[in-house]
Amino acid sequence: MAKLSRYLCAALALTFLTPEVASAQTPAKKLFGNRSMPAALKPAAHGFYTKGCIAGAVAIPVDGPNWQAMRLSRNRRWGHPKLISIVEQLSYKAKKDGWNGLLVGDISQPRGGPMLTGHRSHQMGLDADLWLTQMPNKRMTYKERENTSAISVLKKGSNYVDQSRWTRAHTMLLYHAASFREVERVLVHPGIKKQLCDTVKGNRKWLSKIRPTWGHHYHFHLRMGCPAGSPNCKKQNATPNKTGCSDGSLDWWFNVEFAPKKKPAKPVKKKPRRELTVRDLPQACSAVLSANAPSLEAATHKPIAAAFVAPTIKLPKFSAARVLKGKAIEAAGVPVFSLNKTVNYLPDGNIPIPTPRPAFR
Ligand SMILES: [Zn+2]
Repeated sequence: MAKLSRYLCAALALTFLTPEVASAQTPAKKLFGNRSMPAALKPAAHGFYTKGCIAGAVAIPVDGPNWQAMRLSRNRRWGHPKLISIVEQLSYKAKKDGWNGLLVGDISQPRGGPMLTGHRSHQMGLDADLWLTQMPNKRMTYKERENTSAISVLKKGSNYVDQSRWTRAHTMLLYHAASFREVERVLVHPGIKKQLCDTVKGNRKWLSKIRPTWGHHYHFHLRMGCPAGSPNCKKQNATPNKTGCSDGSLDWWFNVEFAPKKKPAKPVKKKPRRELTVRDLPQACSAVLSANAPSLEAATHKPIAAAFVAPTIKLPKFSAARVLKGKAIEAAGVPVFSLNKTVNYLPDGNIPIPTPRPAFR
């Protein structure tokens, strides 16, 4: 017993006296995933999309004239101020082309870093997931934002877009997303890329930014390049300067990746990926982790339509345990469509927009 308690004392002393030793093995997702507020530092993205963090992130407001943020319990509506501003501008541009409004999915944790659940990227506040389902006219409650499901644009059981679901507004949403100079990639399911390749007429240059990838038929993923003032941000490879419609790269998905495969005789066991620790991240991320937090008000993006008001949603105190229990966006719940039948319309036409309206870049 004495021996055991001596051992315990030694272990405790080690934990308390040398926290850097204890934290060296701690998965970075636990440290970053437990922060409820950003680092009150100058905005800067550090590292890479899959191995980094963000200083000075701002939150997109829970509601804007043309958007509603979803899955609020996750507390992932944080990003580089430039990215948040792009999402806002996109909401206006898409609205003009018939998209009722954005449902904003995961952006980043307040200080970025690896996430408690899902996503390998989204670590620098430069990635945003936006649903491929339009915002309902109703302002959703906290609970509805937790539980409603996004709807796949693919035909059930196929890798092709369901033509009865796809609209011009979908195409225009992706067009506008790709048209921002700062946006380098728009990630979608190969079926969606094919839909665009097959139907877009006239200017097709923007299709080079539309990149096929796994998943991404409930939502698409907007990724901007390294912003100014982020010398620590590692650039991703440039996308080839061609549409990617007829060079064989899209065919590969349908002919190889999606082709029926023979089952291997022995199931191949995937080695679990090693958890990232703070040591794997740029050094600046340690300062991001330990920096003070601003007030929520100071760290919330100020929308263009300053006079816009929506019913207030009282956010519960952030809890990492709740994040771990959260529902995926495609998890079976009430589809967003059905909410349009509920009567709780906002006076859409009466939302004052400042004049002259700021020009979109
Ligand atoms: Zn994403």
